[in-house]
Amino acid sequence: MTKRISVCLSFDFDAISLWVGPRKSRSPNLIAHGEFGEIGAQRLVRLLDDEQIPSTWFIPGHTIETYPEICQQVANAGHEIGYHGYCHEAPSSKRDVVEERTILERSIECIDKLCGKTPVGHRLPGGNLGERWVSMLMEHGIRYDSSLAPHDFEPTYFRRGDVPRTDGPYEFGETIDLVILPFDWNMDDWPYFTYEGNRQGLRSPDDVYGIWAAEFDYLYQKLGSGVYVLTMHPQCIGKGSRMLMLERLIHYMKTHDNVEFKCLATVTEEFRSANPIG
Ligand SMILES: [Zn+2]
Repeated sequence: MTKRISVCLSFDFDAISLWVGPRKSRSPNLIAHGEFGEIGAQRLVRLLDDEQIPSTWFIPGHTIETYPEICQQVANAGHEIGYHGYCHEAPSSKRDVVEERTILERSIECIDKLCGKTPVGHRLPGGNLGERWVSMLMEHGIRYDSSLAPHDFEPTYFRRGDVPRTDGPYEFGETIDLVILPFDWNMDDWPYFTYEGNRQGLRSPDDVYGIWAAEFDYLYQKLGSGVYVLTMHPQCIGKGSRMLMLERLIHYMKTHDNVEFKCLATVTEEFRSANPIG
Protein backbone atom coordinates (compact mmCIF):
# COMPACT_ATOMS: atom_id res chain seq x y z
CA MET A 1 0.00 0.00 0.00
CA THR A 2 1.27 3.46 -0.87
CA LYS A 3 2.22 5.47 2.14
CA ARG A 4 0.61 8.85 2.65
CA ILE A 5 1.63 10.92 5.65
CA SER A 6 0.68 14.52 6.40
CA VAL A 7 2.90 16.34 8.88
CA CYS A 8 1.43 19.39 10.59
CA LEU A 9 3.65 21.66 12.64
CA SER A 10 1.48 23.86 14.82
CA PHE A 11 2.56 26.75 17.03
CA ASP A 12 0.62 28.27 19.93
CA PHE A 13 1.98 31.80 19.99
CA ASP A 14 0.79 32.68 23.50
CA ALA A 15 3.60 35.16 24.28
CA ILE A 16 2.60 37.24 27.32
CA SER A 17 -1.15 36.47 27.14
CA LEU A 18 -0.78 33.17 28.98
CA TRP A 19 1.03 34.73 31.94
CA VAL A 20 -1.09 37.83 32.47
CA GLY A 21 -4.34 36.09 31.46
CA PRO A 22 -5.07 32.68 32.98
CA ARG A 23 -1.97 32.64 35.20
CA LYS A 24 -2.83 36.15 36.47
CA SER A 25 0.85 36.89 36.97
CA ARG A 26 2.45 40.32 37.08
CA SER A 27 5.91 38.87 37.61
CA PRO A 28 8.52 40.48 35.34
CA ASN A 29 10.28 37.11 35.25
CA LEU A 30 7.29 35.25 33.85
CA ILE A 31 6.35 38.11 31.55
CA ALA A 32 9.92 37.97 30.20
CA HIS A 33 9.35 34.27 29.51
CA GLY A 34 6.38 35.29 27.39
CA GLU A 35 8.34 38.08 25.71
CA PHE A 36 10.87 35.55 24.52
CA GLY A 37 8.02 34.19 22.40
CA GLU A 38 8.66 37.01 19.93
CA ILE A 39 12.29 35.92 19.53
CA GLY A 40 11.26 32.29 19.22
CA ALA A 41 8.66 33.20 16.59
CA GLN A 42 11.27 35.07 14.52
CA ARG A 43 13.54 32.01 14.60
CA LEU A 44 10.68 29.72 13.63
CA VAL A 45 9.59 31.88 10.70
CA ARG A 46 13.17 31.74 9.40
CA LEU A 47 13.39 27.97 9.87
CA LEU A 48 10.05 27.36 8.13
CA ASP A 49 11.16 29.60 5.29
CA ASP A 50 14.49 27.78 4.96
CA GLU A 51 12.67 24.45 4.92
CA GLN A 52 9.88 25.76 2.68
CA ILE A 53 7.11 24.24 4.75
CA PRO A 54 3.65 25.56 5.61
CA SER A 55 2.41 25.49 9.22
CA THR A 56 -0.44 26.56 11.46
CA TRP A 57 -0.21 29.23 14.16
CA PHE A 58 -2.83 29.61 16.89
CA ILE A 59 -2.46 33.23 17.97
CA PRO A 60 -4.41 35.00 20.73
CA GLY A 61 -5.69 38.48 19.81
CA HIS A 62 -3.56 39.84 22.67
CA THR A 63 -0.40 38.59 20.94
CA ILE A 64 -1.52 39.99 17.58
CA GLU A 65 -2.00 43.43 19.14
CA THR A 66 1.15 43.30 21.30
CA TYR A 67 3.46 41.98 18.58
CA PRO A 68 1.91 43.13 15.29
CA GLU A 69 5.15 42.98 13.35
CA ILE A 70 6.10 39.36 13.86
CA CYS A 71 2.45 38.26 13.58
CA GLN A 72 2.30 40.04 10.23
CA GLN A 73 5.43 38.21 9.12
CA VAL A 74 3.81 34.88 10.05
CA ALA A 75 0.70 35.79 8.05
CA ASN A 76 2.64 37.19 5.10
CA ALA A 77 4.68 34.01 4.88
CA GLY A 78 1.39 32.21 4.17
CA HIS A 79 1.08 30.26 7.41
CA GLU A 80 -2.45 29.50 8.58
CA ILE A 81 -3.68 31.52 11.58
CA GLY A 82 -6.12 29.85 13.98
CA TYR A 83 -8.16 30.92 16.99
CA HIS A 84 -6.63 30.81 20.48
CA GLY A 85 -8.68 33.29 22.52
CA TYR A 86 -8.08 36.99 23.10
CA CYS A 87 -5.99 36.76 26.26
CA HIS A 88 -5.83 32.95 26.35
CA GLU A 89 -9.25 32.55 28.00
CA ALA A 90 -10.56 29.06 28.62
CA PRO A 91 -14.22 28.98 27.60
CA SER A 92 -16.06 27.94 30.71
CA SER A 93 -19.66 27.12 31.49
CA LYS A 94 -19.41 29.56 34.40
CA ARG A 95 -18.78 32.50 32.12
CA ASP A 96 -21.74 34.42 30.85
CA VAL A 97 -22.63 33.47 27.27
CA VAL A 98 -22.50 37.11 26.15
CA GLU A 99 -18.97 37.43 27.52
CA GLU A 100 -17.94 34.22 25.74
CA ARG A 101 -19.30 35.51 22.46
CA THR A 102 -17.57 38.88 22.88
CA ILE A 103 -14.20 37.20 23.40
CA LEU A 104 -14.76 34.92 20.41
CA GLU A 105 -15.77 37.73 18.08
CA ARG A 106 -13.02 40.10 19.21
CA SER A 107 -10.37 37.41 18.68
CA ILE A 108 -11.73 36.48 15.25
CA GLU A 109 -11.66 40.15 14.29
CA CYS A 110 -7.98 40.42 15.27
CA ILE A 111 -7.17 37.49 12.97
CA ASP A 112 -9.31 38.90 10.16
CA LYS A 113 -7.44 42.24 10.40
CA LEU A 114 -4.11 40.43 10.40
CA CYS A 115 -4.55 38.16 7.41
CA GLY A 116 -7.72 39.28 5.68
CA LYS A 117 -9.75 36.20 6.53
CA THR A 118 -11.48 34.72 9.53
CA PRO A 119 -10.01 31.56 11.07
CA VAL A 120 -11.29 28.07 10.27
CA GLY A 121 -9.22 26.42 13.01
CA HIS A 122 -9.48 26.48 16.79
CA ARG A 123 -7.34 25.28 19.65
CA LEU A 124 -8.63 25.64 23.20
CA PRO A 125 -6.53 27.94 25.34
CA GLY A 126 -7.22 25.61 28.30
CA GLY A 127 -10.54 24.33 29.62
CA ASN A 128 -12.91 21.92 27.94
CA LEU A 129 -14.64 21.75 24.61
CA GLY A 130 -18.22 22.19 25.89
CA GLU A 131 -21.21 21.83 23.59
CA ARG A 132 -22.28 25.46 23.93
CA TRP A 133 -18.83 26.63 22.92
CA VAL A 134 -18.74 24.18 20.01
CA SER A 135 -22.06 25.51 18.67
CA MET A 136 -20.75 29.05 18.89
CA LEU A 137 -17.56 28.08 17.05
CA MET A 138 -19.47 26.44 14.22
CA GLU A 139 -21.76 29.45 13.94
CA HIS A 140 -18.64 31.57 13.41
CA GLY A 141 -17.18 29.46 10.61
CA ILE A 142 -14.79 27.23 12.56
CA ARG A 143 -14.26 24.00 10.60
CA TYR A 144 -11.92 22.11 12.91
CA ASP A 145 -10.63 21.93 16.45
CA SER A 146 -7.24 20.67 17.56
CA SER A 147 -7.54 20.25 21.33
CA LEU A 148 -8.13 16.54 21.88
CA ALA A 149 -7.24 13.22 20.34
CA PRO A 150 -9.61 10.26 20.25
CA HIS A 151 -7.16 8.98 17.61
CA ASP A 152 -3.47 9.89 17.67
CA PHE A 153 -2.93 9.83 13.90
CA GLU A 154 -6.34 10.31 12.28
CA PRO A 155 -8.78 13.20 12.04
CA THR A 156 -12.23 12.39 13.44
CA TYR A 157 -15.56 14.17 13.73
CA PHE A 158 -16.67 15.76 17.01
CA ARG A 159 -19.71 14.26 18.81
CA ARG A 160 -22.61 15.94 20.51
CA GLY A 161 -24.98 14.44 23.08
CA ASP A 162 -22.82 11.74 24.68
CA VAL A 163 -24.39 10.15 27.76
CA PRO A 164 -21.68 9.25 30.28
CA ARG A 165 -23.56 6.37 31.91
CA THR A 166 -22.00 4.48 34.77
CA ASP A 167 -24.76 1.84 35.17
CA GLY A 168 -24.18 0.62 31.62
CA PRO A 169 -21.94 1.26 28.64
CA TYR A 170 -20.97 4.77 27.70
CA GLU A 171 -23.39 6.14 25.10
CA PHE A 172 -21.85 7.97 22.16
CA GLY A 173 -23.82 10.88 20.72
CA GLU A 174 -24.17 11.96 17.07
CA THR A 175 -21.20 13.09 15.02
CA ILE A 176 -21.32 16.70 13.90
CA ASP A 177 -19.61 18.70 11.21
CA LEU A 178 -16.59 19.78 13.23
CA VAL A 179 -13.36 17.93 12.47
CA ILE A 180 -11.01 17.04 15.32
CA LEU A 181 -7.29 17.02 14.58
CA PRO A 182 -5.14 15.28 17.17
CA PHE A 183 -3.69 17.24 20.06
CA ASP A 184 -1.86 15.25 22.73
CA TRP A 185 0.48 16.33 25.53
CA ASN A 186 2.84 13.65 24.28
CA MET A 187 3.29 15.68 21.11
CA ASP A 188 3.49 19.07 22.84
CA ASP A 189 6.75 20.81 23.76
CA TRP A 190 5.39 22.52 26.90
CA PRO A 191 5.42 19.65 29.44
CA TYR A 192 8.84 18.49 28.28
CA PHE A 193 10.66 21.78 28.34
CA THR A 194 9.01 24.34 30.56
CA TYR A 195 10.22 24.62 34.13
CA GLU A 196 7.35 25.70 36.38
CA GLY A 197 7.89 25.28 40.10
CA ASN A 198 8.46 21.64 40.90
CA ARG A 199 6.92 20.27 37.72
CA GLN A 200 9.23 18.18 35.64
CA GLY A 201 10.57 20.01 32.64
CA LEU A 202 13.88 20.97 31.08
CA ARG A 203 14.15 17.61 29.38
CA SER A 204 17.03 17.02 27.03
CA PRO A 205 16.13 17.84 23.41
CA ASP A 206 17.55 14.40 22.52
CA ASP A 207 14.96 12.71 24.75
CA VAL A 208 12.17 14.60 23.08
CA TYR A 209 13.61 13.92 19.64
CA GLY A 210 13.56 10.24 20.56
CA ILE A 211 9.86 10.33 21.46
CA TRP A 212 8.72 12.45 18.53
CA ALA A 213 10.79 10.53 15.97
CA ALA A 214 9.50 7.20 17.33
CA GLU A 215 5.91 8.44 17.04
CA PHE A 216 6.65 9.31 13.42
CA ASP A 217 8.28 5.89 12.85
CA TYR A 218 5.24 4.08 14.21
CA LEU A 219 2.93 6.08 11.96
CA TYR A 220 5.14 5.60 8.91
CA GLN A 221 6.15 1.98 9.36
CA LYS A 222 3.14 0.40 11.03
CA LEU A 223 0.18 2.45 9.87
CA GLY A 224 1.42 3.86 6.58
CA SER A 225 -1.02 6.73 6.39
CA GLY A 226 -2.32 9.40 8.70
CA VAL A 227 -1.60 12.81 10.15
CA TYR A 228 1.25 13.68 12.49
CA VAL A 229 0.54 16.83 14.51
CA LEU A 230 3.12 18.55 16.69
CA THR A 231 2.17 21.39 19.04
CA MET A 232 4.89 23.85 19.97
CA HIS A 233 5.17 27.23 21.66
CA PRO A 234 7.66 29.81 20.34
CA GLN A 235 8.64 30.75 23.92
CA CYS A 236 9.51 27.11 24.54
CA ILE A 237 10.76 25.52 21.31
CA GLY A 238 12.55 28.79 20.38
CA LYS A 239 15.66 28.07 22.52
CA GLY A 240 18.76 27.14 20.52
CA SER A 241 19.10 23.48 21.48
CA ARG A 242 15.42 22.84 20.82
CA MET A 243 15.44 24.67 17.49
CA LEU A 244 18.28 22.41 16.36
CA MET A 245 16.29 19.39 17.51
CA LEU A 246 13.23 20.53 15.54
CA GLU A 247 15.36 21.12 12.46
CA ARG A 248 16.85 17.64 12.82
CA LEU A 249 13.37 16.13 13.12
CA ILE A 250 12.14 17.98 10.02
CA HIS A 251 15.15 16.73 8.06
CA TYR A 252 14.55 13.19 9.32
CA MET A 253 10.91 13.21 8.25
CA LYS A 254 11.89 14.66 4.87
CA THR A 255 14.11 11.65 4.17
CA HIS A 256 10.93 9.53 3.85
CA ASP A 257 8.90 9.23 0.65
CA ASN A 258 5.27 10.34 0.55
CA VAL A 259 5.54 12.65 3.52
CA GLU A 260 4.02 16.06 2.98
CA PHE A 261 4.02 19.07 5.29
CA LYS A 262 0.63 20.77 5.42
CA CYS A 263 -1.34 23.20 7.52
CA LEU A 264 -4.20 21.80 9.60
CA ALA A 265 -6.87 23.49 7.47
CA THR A 266 -5.68 21.56 4.39
CA VAL A 267 -5.81 18.22 6.23
CA THR A 268 -9.29 19.12 7.51
CA GLU A 269 -10.70 19.70 4.04
CA GLU A 270 -9.03 16.57 2.66
CA PHE A 271 -10.58 14.51 5.46
CA ARG A 272 -13.96 16.15 5.04
CA SER A 273 -14.13 15.40 1.32
CA ALA A 274 -12.90 11.81 1.74
CA ASN A 275 -15.31 11.19 4.66
CA PRO A 276 -18.44 13.28 4.11
CA ILE A 277 -20.62 13.35 7.18
CA GLY A 278 -23.94 11.42 7.20
ZN1 LIG B 1 -1.82 28.51 24.43
